[in-house]
Amino acid sequence: MIIAVDGPTASGKGTISKQLAKHFALPFLDTGLLYRAVGWTLRQQGGDADDAAAALAACVFDGALLDNPALRSEVVGGLASRVSVHPEVRRALDKRQKDFAHQPAGAVLDGRDIGTVIAPDADVKLFVTASSEARAVRRFEEMKRRGEPANFDDILADILKRDERDQNRATAPLKPAADADLLDTTDLTIDAAIQQAIALVNAKTSSRRDKDPA
Ligand code: C5P
Repeated sequence: MIIAVDGPTASGKGTISKQLAKHFALPFLDTGLLYRAVGWTLRQQGGDADDAAAALAACVFDGALLDNPALRSEVVGGLASRVSVHPEVRRALDKRQKDFAHQPAGAVLDGRDIGTVIAPDADVKLFVTASSEARAVRRFEEMKRRGEPANFDDILADILKRDERDQNRATAPLKPAADADLLDTTDLTIDAAIQQAIALVNAKTSSRRDKDPA
């Protein structure tokens, strides 16, 4: 079974995807980390994130980098959003994601274009959203917990800028697949959101079993 989870930053999709992978015993890939690894490598190389050739050169990185906590910073997230605009970068990361999605064991992937580009054949597609204010509050609280300096207005402005860039880029923009189930987490606790996601997966797979009994 392939489960594709897409949505904007801080919507809860990362936590939901990890818990879905655990619940259904499936391998999990956070595809945002690949774009973050490109952003981080580019910064080490002193390249410009808006330069497609420099961003493409940064697509060659050691797999161990994906475990580096430095990838999770806001600065690297911003760079990831900028390098992900280049079709060359998306192409360079395409095979790795498609191979992961289509391994025999099945998989859960979270990102922006999983249900639309990487695995349009996914058995279940979830599009996880939340209001920009709710997402900014979550990001603010997360940064405080980590002891990082956090300014709510700056965080909200950054989220809006990132949404704008992700939704309006020409290649693989952030948008729900036509057959995606929407999950709005604005007023849900994370536990409630996870339970709803599990219920949506179960509903989708059981309706398919009813239509197509083995
Ligand atoms: O999900 P995360 O915040 O780690 O992603 C960082 C950035 O990488 C996003 O803002 C988005 O621009 C880009 N991304 C993407 N396609 C994906 C995953 C992430 O363009 N499948």
